[in-house]
Amino acid sequence: MIPSASALLDWYERHRRDLPWRAPPGGRTPPYHVWLSEIMLQQTTVVTVKPYYSRFLSRYPTIEALAKAPQEDVLAAWAGLGYYTRARNLHACAQQIAALGAFPSTVPALRALPGIGDYTARAIAAIAFGVPVVPVDGNVERVTSRLFAIDTPLPAARRLLAQQAAILNTEPAAQANASDFAQALFDLGATICTPRAPTCILCPWQPHCSAYAQGIAEKLPVKAPRGAKPQKYGACFVLRDRHGAVWLRRRPEKGLLAGMTELPGTNWRLEAWSEQEALSHAPAQAEWREVGFVTHVFTHLTLQLTVYDAQISEFRSHPLGEGFSCSAQALEAQALPSVMRKCLALAGLS
Ligand code: SF4
Repeated sequence: MIPSASALLDWYERHRRDLPWRAPPGGRTPPYHVWLSEIMLQQTTVVTVKPYYSRFLSRYPTIEALAKAPQEDVLAAWAGLGYYTRARNLHACAQQIAALGAFPSTVPALRALPGIGDYTARAIAAIAFGVPVVPVDGNVERVTSRLFAIDTPLPAARRLLAQQAAILNTEPAAQANASDFAQALFDLGATICTPRAPTCILCPWQPHCSAYAQGIAEKLPVKAPRGAKPQKYGACFVLRDRHGAVWLRRRPEKGLLAGMTELPGTNWRLEAWSEQEALSHAPAQAEWREVGFVTHVFTHLTLQLTVYDAQISEFRSHPLGEGFSCSAQALEAQALPSVMRKCLALAGLS
């Protein structure tokens, strides 16, 4: 069940943290201030950032002032916060925004700026512009893993947690108050749903929390031990014809799962695949639909496969490359490794 957005917003109204870059509930912090605070808070605590933030703003009260400043001066104002690439990116970003004439307000436009990743783009869009997106930082990951009792270890769970976090703001109250909602989530994670000894008794979401109900809140999120297996990513494609047959292929005779049967797909690599990249490896042009993903642990790596499915009328009428057709009834007899069976099950073929 999705926890009540109103309950969280009411709690935020009464118990929010008072931070120098924060507008009162219902208000909006200017994007320059949200951006500056978010960049400063990367790898640094709120207590450390507060005095730097105020000094920096009095020196550069506007983005134009920051854009015009010599880089050495900006680095000097940053001195003590460490990670100077952030300060260089901040300066370059200010110059781009000043040239644009306005702060971009959408997640894709914000992401295109130097030093702004997915989390920061979402934080600025939600907090400064009221765009109903959920920025997922460590706090939000922790709250989400507990609400839904997700015990897949991090970092493999990251994508699943982001997907679950994205449904937290689907209620109209969250959509209409995206700025407060994002900040309320941060505060819930920072002050109540803490890594150790969460204060569930005071939590507005306790009635909806699966980890609390199961008594496992402190055990979540699970983190993979250091030196853990590498995480690899791939995509595979469940292509059916109108008779329900599936297109399969044989793996190479050497290497992992040698000679076994598999769904066609991308290779498996350390970097996640974007949808566009993944679909360029699809066996046919079709209306591909993402049905979810499968995580599988091998002895030496953890694999996450995004599963797409589509239907075409006849395999014969498409240039499908290497492979063969297999009826749904004959799937059981195929030498399909369990990771591929999981993918088929996800697409409704078990
Ligand atoms: Fe976190 Fe406890 Fe609230 Fe669940 S009930 S979200 S574990 S503080």
